[in-house]
Amino acid sequence: MAGVSYPYPYQAPVSQTLFDRAAAVTPGGVNSPVRAFRAVGGTPRFMVSGSGPYLTDADGREYVDLVCSWGPMILGHSHPEVLSAVQQAVSRGTSFGTPGEGEVALAEEIVARIAPVEQVRLVSSGTEATMSAIRLARGFTGRAKVVKFAGCYHGHVDALLAAAGSGLATFALPDTPGVTGAQAGDTIVLPYNDLDAVRAAFRAHPGEIACVITEASPGNMGVVPPLPGFNAGLKAACAENGALFISDEVMTGFRVSKAGWYGIDGVAPDLMTFGKVMGGGFPAAAFGGRADVMAHLAPAGPVYQAGTLSGNPVATAAGLAQLRLLDDAAYDKVDAVSAEISGLVTEALTKAGVAHRLQTAGNMFSVFFTEAGVTNYAEAREQESFRFTAFFHAMLANGVYLPPSAFESWFVSTSHDSASVERIAAALPAAARAAAEATEEAK
Ligand code: PLP
Repeated sequence: MAGVSYPYPYQAPVSQTLFDRAAAVTPGGVNSPVRAFRAVGGTPRFMVSGSGPYLTDADGREYVDLVCSWGPMILGHSHPEVLSAVQQAVSRGTSFGTPGEGEVALAEEIVARIAPVEQVRLVSSGTEATMSAIRLARGFTGRAKVVKFAGCYHGHVDALLAAAGSGLATFALPDTPGVTGAQAGDTIVLPYNDLDAVRAAFRAHPGEIACVITEASPGNMGVVPPLPGFNAGLKAACAENGALFISDEVMTGFRVSKAGWYGIDGVAPDLMTFGKVMGGGFPAAAFGGRADVMAHLAPAGPVYQAGTLSGNPVATAAGLAQLRLLDDAAYDKVDAVSAEISGLVTEALTKAGVAHRLQTAGNMFSVFFTEAGVTNYAEAREQESFRFTAFFHAMLANGVYLPPSAFESWFVSTSHDSASVERIAAALPAAARAAAEATEEAK
């Protein structure tokens, strides 16, 4: 919030001035809500540059970045080979509105990495990818209803913003004004990791459910991996009932392994969605899967989908350059640094006597301020998130940039080296103490 009073002993005056300017011309001062620091309070940092694992804000302070642009920057900021690919692409022109070789090469790279993806369509955001996948599933099956899970975020698609409601086959109420009951009315929201609820929904709506969409391993309620057999159970339930199984890998895709979460659990979906890492820091996303399903997409088939900037030559050059650098050694590096940092976090919190659960999904991780393990959204919300607020601000004050919410995954990159890890280690004891001392009122 612009002008919010700030309880911590440091200031960000240039960011505050920019935020005040922003708030005058942009709702809430930001172009995507979670950037506004509403969950933690204080002044959002306006970043001016990034290099490797570091971001520098408009006040000239440097931070170790554990957000990585919410996932995409898996090679760190300003990777020279990605920048060079972008510069070469830009020098040839920025958009042609025609097919180009870069988009073919990016599609080939995706198809080569991920066996269930036989055909892929490029779009510009994860939201477009999931919206289009749902439309395709409905067009392919001729059915209307969509099953999603509470706590899974699939972008701001009208039908998927219905995360409220729980229990068997409860028709969701829209989460936001502007989404009508009709738009959300075909969405069935179920508790995550609950296969019985899925089977019951299929029994309650025979022949009506077009698809089940799930985050391959959720990172939008904090990191809550699927229980063993959950994704396989979803696939089986869909197959038995003539519905499509859509795995949303916008966050996990090309991040947790060469083939994303599919590369870890091996459960082949009918359709998959991608974004973030595959764009190399530019707006590029995709959906793809079974060729017989994708064949229903225009112009091959009747289900319409399009985009002026889809397959943009600069975005595809960035994405392709990034993916080509992501070999086994790169994933080993990200996995190792993730294990190291998450180990340091849990060590510091344990030492300070803070009840917490560190949950991981491949190299994604997050901390829940609770004693119990978290398997779904209801459990995630039981955590003492006021402790995260204190922890977050102490880390920020000591030059570590965490996601400004207790319900987000943390992200690392190949560029997180020992110097940046040491800075994190140095910031942790005071942050853990702040978490220990936090009280709900101080929230
Ligand atoms: N799906 C998942 C799993 C996501 O995490 C996100 C964004 O965080 C989206 C879809 C939406 O992607 P975008 O923000 O590019 O529209």
